[in-house]
Parts: sequence; structure tokens; C-alpha cells
Amino acid sequence: MTAPRKRARMITASPQTRHPEPPRADDAARPADAATPAASWQRELAQAIEDPRELCRLLQLDADLALPAGLAAQGFGLRVPRGYVARMRRGDPNDPLLRQVLPQAAELLAQVGYCADPLEEALSRRAPGLLHKYHGRALLLTTGACAVHCRYCFRREYPYGPLQGSWLADALRIIREDASIEEVILSGGDPLTLATARLARLTDELAEIAHVRRLRLHTRTPIVLPERVDESLCQWLGSLPWPVVLVLHANHARDVDGGVRGAMRRLRATGATLLNQAVLLAGVNDSVEALEELSEALWEAGILPYYLHLLDPVRGTAHFEVTEPRARELMASLAARLPGYLVPRLAREAAGEPAKRLIAPAPWSTERDVLHSPHSGEC
Ligand code: SF4
Repeated sequence: MTAPRKRARMITASPQTRHPEPPRADDAARPADAATPAASWQRELAQAIEDPRELCRLLQLDADLALPAGLAAQGFGLRVPRGYVARMRRGDPNDPLLRQVLPQAAELLAQVGYCADPLEEALSRRAPGLLHKYHGRALLLTTGACAVHCRYCFRREYPYGPLQGSWLADALRIIREDASIEEVILSGGDPLTLATARLARLTDELAEIAHVRRLRLHTRTPIVLPERVDESLCQWLGSLPWPVVLVLHANHARDVDGGVRGAMRRLRATGATLLNQAVLLAGVNDSVEALEELSEALWEAGILPYYLHLLDPVRGTAHFEVTEPRARELMASLAARLPGYLVPRLAREAAGEPAKRLIAPAPWSTERDVLHSPHSGEC
């Protein structure tokens, strides 16, 4: 991440269509779904804010912010649920929650070293909607839709399509034929933007594959839309034949409010293990105080901090970068303040490597160990 940043030019991104799918007739095919009144979370999702002018108005922000936001949103639109907006500070353009979702003019500047697919995920694609990056684990990209559009997203330009029909059949066939795949990760986009009945049909298929022994979900939806954790979802999770791991995604202590803590209580009652992965983001959580508060907030909600990722250099995100030396300093300070189980692993994904590259691997490291870690190679 030491590439020069001097030359910049305007990015012209093609518009993405990543809208949550509207409810379908067969979404209520299971008794549990039929018993749930017309999913309130789907109505919340449909009413998410997509117009920067409305967001600025609600937050009492200078209307001038809406113009660059509108331009930057043309490639990757604004989307943020109203309940998440309610957690933001009024009149503060630097609010760390707002910063995660408000498109900014800086996204339009191309920077050397930033590109559409820095992790070269295209090379790991075994079928549309199926990525096989690491031994024993495969990712199903269940949908391109998310409940929120995070401006730093590493898949903001991923060529999504709906995982159904022949795409789904091909992905399942490959998993069935490859006995090395013991864990399936439902990812996206965000799998929890799909109706529970859709997810249940998918897991019914996976349950027929004997060598699949673990199920993981990567989701940010319960953080920004805790209403998603309804009775139907919990019944489905509790009924699955595998130990389930939910990897959530909160970046700031104020991401975790009372609604989220309630949702986490319901999720824990299903027997799921709750972990968090965050991204280290300039202006959001790049201080030891912010990281400490995040870990404490996660703990209170019953979630263990798992990974703290360095930013993936996706174009349009350079203004979020925190340098690796600064990240290591922060981790050393954090490790000196918190018990080891509250210190996430600082990691970077690198294209073509067999695992994430751990940068601050041992929470019990002394500051000197962390700063001189043999894993701390510069990119
Ligand atoms: S929820 Fe995850 S996949 Fe969706 S925009 Fe945010 S970071 Fe990207």
C-alpha cells in the first residue's frame, strides 16, 4: 500500500444495479414464513434512503454536500436504512457512521494502485456466484444486494447476477463434486437481504451434501437493520444441521445500539457463534479509543472481535486508507489496553495467497513484537 498517490484522474464507473429483490410468491413457502406478518424488515429495506438530498435534509447538513454525493453515487448508489441514519449525529458531516455511507467527491478520483478487483477474485471464480479462494471453504455469492452501501466496499464493482437457475445449479454441482469443500460461506452482497424461505431452500440443498460440515454467513444487515433478525430467521438458523457462524460487520461502537444488542441476543439463542470483522477506515475508527470502544461494544452485544482488515485498494476508496505502519501502532496500543479475546487480528487479503496475511497476529505481543512482526511485509 505504498504506491504513489500523486496522479489522479476522474473515474467513470458503470452504474450498478444492486437492489434487493422484491418479495416473491414462493418466499412464504414455509410455515414459519407464512406465520410472520409481511416481513417488516422488507418494508424497512424498501424505504432505505437512496437520495443524498434527503439524507442531508434529515441530518440537517449543508445542502451543498448533496451535489458531489449525487455525482459519486452514480457508479455505486447511496443506500442506508432509516434506522441506521437515526443513530447519526445531526449537523455533523464527519460523523463516523455517516462517513461509511455518504458518497464523496474523492471517490471520483482515480489513484495509482487502486483498481476494480485488487484481490483478483475473478481468478477464484469457479462458476458465476461461486468463489473458491481458500482450502476447504467456498463462498456462495447469493445476491448482489445489500441493506447498506458501504463506500469502502471491496466488491463495489463485482459483476453480480442472481444466484438462481443454472448459476445455482452449477455452483451446487461443483460443491457436490468437490469433497474438499467442508465449509460453505453464504456471502454476497448480503445473504440476509434474501427472504428466509430462499435461504432455507438453499440450505436444504447443501444439507444433502455429506462433506459440507460447517455453514458461515457474512452479513452486515443485522447491524444496520436489526429488524431482519425476526422469528422466521431465528427458526431457520436454529433448525440447521451444522454449527453456524455469523460473521457480522460493525466498524464503530455506535454501529452497535440497543436494537443491535437485542438482535444479537436472538441470534445467540439459536446457538450461532457471533464474530465481527471490521475494516480500519480513516475518519471512522482509526484511533485506539475508537477501536477500544468498538471491541467493548461488541463484547456487550455478545460478539467477539475477529478481524480488523486493512482497506482493500478498490478504486474510489483511497480516502479511507490507513497506512500499515499506523495500523500496527494502533494494534500495539490496543493490545496494551484490552484482554486478548477483545483484540481483533489485523489482516490484509492479498491476491493469490492461500490465507489472509496476518499483520498483528498475536494479541499478547508486546509493542516491540507487533512493530517488528515477521508477518508485517510491506506491499
Ligand atoms: S454490506 Fe458488505 S458487501 Fe455490502 S456494501 Fe457493505 S461491505 Fe460491501
